[in-house]
Amino acid sequence: MDIKRFKKTYKFICDDCGEFMHTKTEFCEKCGSKALRKPTREDYAKFETKDKAETAVRKAGEKVVKNARIAGEKAKMAEEKAEVKAERAEKKAEVKAERAERKAEVKAERAERKAE
Ligand SMILES: [Zn+2]
Repeated sequence: MDIKRFKKTYKFICDDCGEFMHTKTEFCEKCGSKALRKPTREDYAKFETKDKAETAVRKAGEKVVKNARIAGEKAKMAEEKAEVKAERAEKKAEVKAERAERKAEVKAERAERKAE
């Protein structure tokens, strides 16, 4: 969240646990403490630093996940390509074998005819 908007939204802070609150409640929503006060500039600065750090960590995590997904997709594509290649090679081998068989048959026929 933008810090300016944050300052407008959260006008109170718990003195015990540091939880920000938008309305002055009797107790802290997080820890139940009664020690609510107006946040100082330092409180907001601390939050901003923490927020930035958390955002950076989250972004880094998202990047890792994204990279892993891309790597997975690439591996899958390579696998598919290899499969297609193997299939093609198999078909080629089949055609060659068929041709060789036919040639052998023709030769055998010729030899038979010669023998007659
Ligand atoms: Zn609290």
